[in-house]
Amino acid sequence: MDNKSVYYVWDENLIEHCDRLPAVPGRASMVHSLITAYDLLKKLKIVRSKPAVESDLLRFHSDLYIKHLNKFSELDEEYMTSNEDEEYGLGYDCPPVPKMSELVSTLAGGSITAARCLTLGLTQLVLNWCGGWHHANRHGAEGFCYVNDIVLAIEYLKEKFPKVLYIDLDVHHVFTLSIHKYEPGFYPGTGDGGDIGTLSGKGYSCNMPLHAFYSDDTLEYVFEKVFASVFALFAPDAIVVQCGADALAGDPNGGAGVTARGYCACVSRVLDEKKPTMLLGGGGYKHSNTARLWTTLTALVTGVTLDENIPEHSHWLDYGPDYMLAIQPMLSRDANKKSYIDDCIEKIQTEKNYATLQGSWLLFKRSGYKYNEKKKNNQA
Ligand SMILES: [Zn+2]
Repeated sequence: MDNKSVYYVWDENLIEHCDRLPAVPGRASMVHSLITAYDLLKKLKIVRSKPAVESDLLRFHSDLYIKHLNKFSELDEEYMTSNEDEEYGLGYDCPPVPKMSELVSTLAGGSITAARCLTLGLTQLVLNWCGGWHHANRHGAEGFCYVNDIVLAIEYLKEKFPKVLYIDLDVHHVFTLSIHKYEPGFYPGTGDGGDIGTLSGKGYSCNMPLHAFYSDDTLEYVFEKVFASVFALFAPDAIVVQCGADALAGDPNGGAGVTARGYCACVSRVLDEKKPTMLLGGGGYKHSNTARLWTTLTALVTGVTLDENIPEHSHWLDYGPDYMLAIQPMLSRDANKKSYIDDCIEKIQTEKNYATLQGSWLLFKRSGYKYNEKKKNNQA
């Protein structure tokens, strides 16, 4: 890193809306409180988030979806979702909540603000733990995500940086260099190693499908090799890393066995390249561990060593019974054999169809059935 400060996207409004997400209620406050309790704010340059406007959202999302959200300014508790709501993914894991439009523009605004910090050259590294909602698609909500702040941020980054590498450390598959769990029946069921993207996104996707309980050792081994290959081939001008915390051991929706060590190794490796970089949040459903991880990453990038004892603060009781910073590894065995991992790596390294010459980022590769059903202006 050069000596420019690390920027941290934060403001009350962003935290308030992020706290309202039904899949992670109150999580954003908890993360920010722990970062504050460890006194890391003095190492960061806080940048207030500016909510996105409609034209920002329309750079990826459809007009119909964005308009539909206006319907939910007020929402009564008994509200039953209509068929139309469900067409837009609002129901099941993404229920409508009051003030949907504000929620979506605020969350998108956080990552767009982060992108502007990089494009304006204010910093080389920006953090937005309220961002990272990688499953939302052009036409609607999906997989706990109402707006794809990542795609929008990358759209802005592309104005200055022609090639943006997106790396996804979340346990669930989305796009690009994604290291994730891939097993029959595990959401979203895409991301096999042979999957390199489709249509205009062909050649821009690199998938590392791992079996259950992948450990720090597996993640570090794979990441070192695959990141090096992708970086050399693609030569990105900027990098976005989604640090979804659901690959942590003990996550209720995860089933991987990583601890902060594995994530720190990946992020350090990325930062070694000294490219303008954005770190985002994402999944992470055991809130105490998510806060532990993102605080540890914040300390890593600001060069601070943290006390293992969690300092007393408003959420301190949530860190029991040990009140320690370390994330406990799990006892389940890593189901990935070295031969399997090496085969996957070799497949990636010998793939002949990766795009190298032009183009920029990678692509929102939709996972579900709706993509094929709707086929409206999709971007691969
Ligand atoms: Zn996830």
